[in-house]
Amino acid sequence: MSIAENILEIREKIAAAAREAGRDPSEITLVGASKMNDAAACKEAIAAGIDVLGENRVQEMVQKLSEGAYVGAPLHFIGHLQRNKVKQVVGYVDLIQSIGSLALLDEVEKVAASKSLVQDILLEVNIGEEDAKSGFAPADIFAAAEYALTKEHVRVCGLMTIPPFDADRDTNIQYFNKVRALYVDINEKLFHNELKCLSMGMSGDYEDAIRAGATMVRVGTAIFGARNYNL
Ligand SMILES: *Cc1c(COP(=O)(O)O)cnc(C)c1O
Repeated sequence: MSIAENILEIREKIAAAAREAGRDPSEITLVGASKMNDAAACKEAIAAGIDVLGENRVQEMVQKLSEGAYVGAPLHFIGHLQRNKVKQVVGYVDLIQSIGSLALLDEVEKVAASKSLVQDILLEVNIGEEDAKSGFAPADIFAAAEYALTKEHVRVCGLMTIPPFDADRDTNIQYFNKVRALYVDINEKLFHNELKCLSMGMSGDYEDAIRAGATMVRVGTAIFGARNYNL
């Protein structure tokens, strides 16, 4: 199947899941997670109407930016971001989905201020409280959002999460529901219900994520095919 055919099929599944949850399919943003896929594949996805492309690795993104890979679509950074690479990301992407510590938030604020811009971000929730994963613990999300509100050059647009890989389906859905509850809580109490982005769900679970309230799904393999990690 081509990238375009895959996107079409995913759109249909997104629409069905949204309707099942009583929601309008047009509320769901499909992010193509294009890591390890070249500029030609990115352009193919854009031509096929992908809403957004998302990248994980700064070096790869910088390279593909120089090749014009993302012309015609918004670009998000969705991967683990090191503080020393923030300069290469702030101002180059429409949304950084993966702000998982106050130190990283401070760095984004500093760089955005130096570039006189406001960077849109999501706060990442480490919902499985995994040691090896970045993101705020669920108990720290409220305080992190309050802290972000004191920063003039970052704008919180919502939450993002990646549940533990090995969770079974029911547990995974429970994680999604927990993140949805955190999102609703901060949205009501801190953001006048103006947040729009709840980014959760990947190739294997985006329909469950939408039924649990996701407004944004990040899909790689199901669009671009299996990644070749030996490149
Ligand atoms: C790679 C990646 C995805 C997409 O994963 P697939 O399972 O290939 O759909 C989503 N989110 C993040 C943060 C990723 O790194």
